[in-house]
Amino acid sequence: MKLKATILRTALVFCSVMLAACGGESEPTGVAGVSTQSQQTYEWKLVTTWPKNFPGLGETPERFAELVEEMSNGRMSIRVYGAGEIVPALEVFDAVSAGTAEMGHSAAYYWRGKAPEAQFFGAVPFGLNAEEMESWISFGGGQELWEEVYAPFNLVPMLGGNTGVQMGGWFNKEINSLEDFQGLTMRIPGLGGEVVERIGGVPVNLAAGDIYTSLQTGVIDATEFVGPQNDLALGFYDVADYYYFPGWHEAGSLQEFMLNKEIFEALPVDLQTIIRTAATAVSSTMADQFRVQNSYAFATLVEEHGVDVRQFPDDLTAELYNVSQEVINELGQSSEIAQRILASYRAFEAQIKDYQDISEEAYIRVRAQQR
Ligand code: CA
Repeated sequence: MKLKATILRTALVFCSVMLAACGGESEPTGVAGVSTQSQQTYEWKLVTTWPKNFPGLGETPERFAELVEEMSNGRMSIRVYGAGEIVPALEVFDAVSAGTAEMGHSAAYYWRGKAPEAQFFGAVPFGLNAEEMESWISFGGGQELWEEVYAPFNLVPMLGGNTGVQMGGWFNKEINSLEDFQGLTMRIPGLGGEVVERIGGVPVNLAAGDIYTSLQTGVIDATEFVGPQNDLALGFYDVADYYYFPGWHEAGSLQEFMLNKEIFEALPVDLQTIIRTAATAVSSTMADQFRVQNSYAFATLVEEHGVDVRQFPDDLTAELYNVSQEVINELGQSSEIAQRILASYRAFEAQIKDYQDISEEAYIRVRAQQR
């Protein structure tokens, strides 16, 4: 921007000398044009899938809005709306696509009915963890593919945080084998839901605010949501007996910002950069926050609420893994772009595996042995 301003000033000096060549109108128009663009202010609406200020998930877009306002020196002001304030939780995608709100914060697997490939950018069962997912998006080709999936919907996606590995869910009976999923109605979105369906369960997708009552009244038998921080806030310990781990279906659930593409691309470049930078910054902060808040909330669930925490048996996990691979591979064959996304995802996994095995994973393993 500085360089452009210097060029314009130089041009104006030149014009003042060569008035005849430049024409009488050029000076005021040029100056006014530059000045108007740099001073223009923007007031945006950001709709979310979360209750207003919901721990971690809802706080992240609030942090984003504050950061953008400060970084832009007040040129851009973004008001964050909780689920249902302007549009229902699961209509964020459509609202931003249509420009009802300029941007949104949600998670890509909620849009499987519109773009099945979006699920690769939310969570893949037994797939990449939080750190690996961000690396794939930022340096493994994921961002470009994600943008390609969202472009037909007039949307631009960006990193919007990560919950880290989630919990396996709340159940009112012990889960020992695949048979225990037979006829089980469970709130579980995305590819994890497809796996549950394939093993005889009935997956349903409910927004945060509807889960507790559905579990309490028996509309659903079980639910996964996120992890201790959010599950404590929603009070699931009151209405379910067992809390299972690990969240095989969501090992590193990526959250997303989405922007109306036309509106975003019409912004001055510096504001576009501010938005991208703020999204990356708060995305990282969300993962940091979940790590610590989940630890506090987990202690509260166990110590104050006496929650019975169980691990899925190994043989069940192995069967879930096999079914997950079927579901993922079928999704990867469902369209030309799905093929390219799965190829990119698998290539990235294979690329990082050998070094991950002897670095992060080896370290976690040896540290656990010493504790
Ligand atoms: Ca979840």
